[in-house]
Amino acid sequence: MLKEFIRVLFLGTLFVLFLNKACRAQELNIVTSAYPQYDFVRAIVKDRAKVSMLLKIGTEAHSFEPSPKDLIAIEKASLFVCNGGENEEWLADFVDGLSVKPQTMTFTDLVKIRPEEPPAGVRELHEHHHDLMSTHEYEKEHMHKHDHEHEHDYAFDEHVWTSPRNDIVILEKLCEKIVSLDRDNQEFYERNAREYIERFHKIDDEYQRIVSLAPLKTIIFGDRFPLLYFAKDYGLEYYAAFSGCSNETEVSAHTMSYLIEKAKEKKVPVIFKIELSSPSLAKTIAEEVGAEVMTFNSGHNLSVEQFEKGITMADLFEMNYRPLKMALGLF
Ligand SMILES: [Zn+2]
Repeated sequence: MLKEFIRVLFLGTLFVLFLNKACRAQELNIVTSAYPQYDFVRAIVKDRAKVSMLLKIGTEAHSFEPSPKDLIAIEKASLFVCNGGENEEWLADFVDGLSVKPQTMTFTDLVKIRPEEPPAGVRELHEHHHDLMSTHEYEKEHMHKHDHEHEHDYAFDEHVWTSPRNDIVILEKLCEKIVSLDRDNQEFYERNAREYIERFHKIDDEYQRIVSLAPLKTIIFGDRFPLLYFAKDYGLEYYAAFSGCSNETEVSAHTMSYLIEKAKEKKVPVIFKIELSSPSLAKTIAEEVGAEVMTFNSGHNLSVEQFEKGITMADLFEMNYRPLKMALGLF
């Protein structure tokens, strides 16, 4: 009897192992370039696909350098999800050079993009008014500009995910793509996407509510400014030391005094820095004008502790409510 039982148990275990292997063979292998891509894919597929990210958790996104291992991972992916733009130029070149290209989705191709703006101290000297455009339209205008030898040719701003309104569109399109590669889990993926999209609708409502109630409409960053899409969508005026993905860390005396002057003029109680970035510049401005330094999450990446706690992009955006209220004079 016992012998029989052990035999059944053994065969049963073998069968489960076999099934597991058969299922895994069909499992999607999705490789993502950075945190926004990872977070969105994870939210849709949960544990029904293998999801990895090239950027390391807790590191600064703009200093990322791909390793040979990363390149092999991209080649083997059943879907590669990246952001596009200046910070990922190396990626486009690499994928172009592959003989067998993975299916690719690029965030900046999914929504209308905005041309990158020069930092605050330079901006008032070259005030341009740009509208939203597709990456295709941008390329056309960019080529056109070259004919006329424009001096200040800024790249398009790639931080499309910083506006929840863009996130809603991106999640819809990303879900469609994933479903097209794995029809068996269609219902599961679509339900997960709907739930996550609902969070971004709520965040959109709350950001809008905060801005409409607030007595102040200006935000000042003693840091990079990757929040063009956020600021424009909610009608906020903004000043910053550097543009979106700038590699600069040295700020000019002109920009510094310009930011201090603006902070005084607009009476802002908070000077922002972004996550995983040095607070020293924001501190200098804040001390000068008697303001407080606070972090605004742009969602470039998470700290290791946040990642271990399972913090998502939507959580990060909700964490912005309080600092945003403070900065706009709602407390
Ligand atoms: Zn960036």
